Amino acid sequence: MHTEHGLTDAQQKAFEQNRADFAELKKQMRGFAETANSRLDASDLRRDLNPNHCLLCSCSEFRGAPGESCTCGHEMTSHDGYY
Ligand SMILES: [Zn+2]
Ligand SMILES: [Zn+2]
Repeated sequence: MHTEHGLTDAQQKAFEQNRADFAELKKQMRGFAETANSRLDASDLRRDLNPNHCLLCSCSEFRGAPGESCTCGHEMTSHDGYY
């Protein structure tokens, strides 16, 4: 566990908890993406050609700047391969 200079114990603890929460979120997002991909596979949608396809529509690739939505209207995190 690394410590940061100039932070109080409470502040360090807050960051620690935030990191734990975000690590958990990332794990869940990966799980959701896996489930989403297996649904697409099961419904015979062949998406494996593009690693950044959208999980929510037939968009084949994320097109947009980071932090902005794709042209398909879904966020970057709705596309595969971003977490
Ligand atoms: Zn989409
Ligand atoms: Zn898209």
